[in-house]
Amino acid sequence: MSTTLQAIRGMNDILPDDAELWEEFEDLVRGWLAGYGYRPIRMPMVEPTPLFARAIGEVTDIVEKEMYSFTDSLNGEPLTLRPEGTASCVRAVLQHNLLYDAPRRLWYMGPMFRHERPQKGRYRQFHQVGVEALGFAGPDVDAEQILMCQRLWDDLGLENIKLEINSLGQSEERAKHRADLIAYLSGHADILDEEAKRRLHTNPLRILDTKNPALQSVVEGAPKLIDYLGEASLKHFDGVQQLLKDAGLPYRINPRLVRGLDYYNLTVFEWVTDQLGAQGTVCAGGRYDGLVQQLGGKPQPACGFAMGIERLLALWRDQGNQHEKPAPDIYVVHQGEAAARFAFRVAEGLRDAGFAVQLHCGGGSFKSQMKRADASGAPLAVIIGDDEAEANEVTLKPLRETAEQRRVAADELADAVGAWLFGDEEDGGL
Ligand code: ATP
Ligand code: MG
Repeated sequence: MSTTLQAIRGMNDILPDDAELWEEFEDLVRGWLAGYGYRPIRMPMVEPTPLFARAIGEVTDIVEKEMYSFTDSLNGEPLTLRPEGTASCVRAVLQHNLLYDAPRRLWYMGPMFRHERPQKGRYRQFHQVGVEALGFAGPDVDAEQILMCQRLWDDLGLENIKLEINSLGQSEERAKHRADLIAYLSGHADILDEEAKRRLHTNPLRILDTKNPALQSVVEGAPKLIDYLGEASLKHFDGVQQLLKDAGLPYRINPRLVRGLDYYNLTVFEWVTDQLGAQGTVCAGGRYDGLVQQLGGKPQPACGFAMGIERLLALWRDQGNQHEKPAPDIYVVHQGEAAARFAFRVAEGLRDAGFAVQLHCGGGSFKSQMKRADASGAPLAVIIGDDEAEANEVTLKPLRETAEQRRVAADELADAVGAWLFGDEEDGGL
């Protein structure tokens, strides 16, 4: 006996009711991005593995243990399913020299792949909307990106998403802080867990981001990066905050917000909700001024963020957004050989006129076809028998109201349907 094949764990099918809600969300997102001058870009889902190692950092969660990497069996090339979009986007921008004359505002949307433990809000194939502004030194563009997020939450009617920001300063400032942090954490070596010990000399900043409750008090008392920022970094951070205040947008400075990717500097931010359990971060981003050069380009400042679509849609659904199954305008039923061929022409003619038409396929009794018509949600049925086909006419039958059905000449059908649907009783309504 054969077993039923299943999708890979943590990789979800998005079924029609859901997929239509996704499409509504995607349409909204496209309009929102256009409103800020962002243009779309689409990158491949597979990239050479070294791109991610170089961009995201060797000692990050993503590169150390979350990437789907494999060897191309035909040419031996090391490849990886993209775990995020920023590295690919910067690679594409450099490859096609998109920054040659002006800065760029770019966005993309699509699946990302990370080998994590699947749970609510955390999947192995998940989807992001990514937004990248390249060639802008900020802080205006940082603040604009944060404010545009708030606008999307408003457009979606999402409440209770709170903003946290921090500044990671520049690499020299982080180096000084790092030395002090290692010294401090070494003094608490007895409390550190295995992961923290391993990170102590590779990526100690990430220890501050630990989810282990036993480490919280040590982390609370650790030297704060913000106390190490020089004048220029503080000025940038103040600039962002001033614009947020001008816009009346509340925020919290979270000194432990360090982000899981190495490429960030200066401003970092996260949007967090307490309504999704442990996976409460719906959007995260910040400045990554070093990345373009790190990937081989001339230095260019940059700032971006990514939103987790599954998490946002879970919130959107929880706050009362249900998808209504779309109904066609017309369901066409038919009985008889000539009628079936005529029905095809009638259905296409109605589609030419701009109506959404479901043509009954698969035969069946008149009664069972009418049941389907009813279930389709269409307000109107077009009924065709061989005698109608012979006369080049159809019967138009309202399905939701108690109005009489009537015969209509095929070439007057589109007008009659329009009159019925749009309530123009005077010329041709039923
Ligand atoms: P987390 O701390 O939750 O692992 P992250 O810092 O790894 O998040 P980013 O790389 O910043 O996440 O990705 C941006 C956003 O993408 C996250 O805020 C989240 O909404 C979403 N996201 C990240 N990983 C997943 C996943 N495995 N499943 C679903 N959404 C995810
Ligand atoms: Mg993660």
